[in-house]
Amino acid sequence: MPRHSWQETHRSQFKTERNCRRDCGWIKVTRHDAGPGGVPWTEWWRGGERLQVGGHTPACEAVAAVAA
Ligand SMILES: [Zn+2]
Repeated sequence: MPRHSWQETHRSQFKTERNCRRDCGWIKVTRHDAGPGGVPWTEWWRGGERLQVGGHTPACEAVAAVAA
């Protein structure tokens, strides 16, 4: 499975965003706003929509697009 190459970490008080170097459109967001003692969680965004919360990392589709 193709893997993302995360770059450009944008860290703010409540979340950290990472874009994929391959420009596949996925954004990995780590949320820190669970409150004191809360456990951070990961969200996966694409096209301005939150498509997944937690779970496995979505495949990086940029490589497949290049191959096609
Ligand atoms: Zn990617």
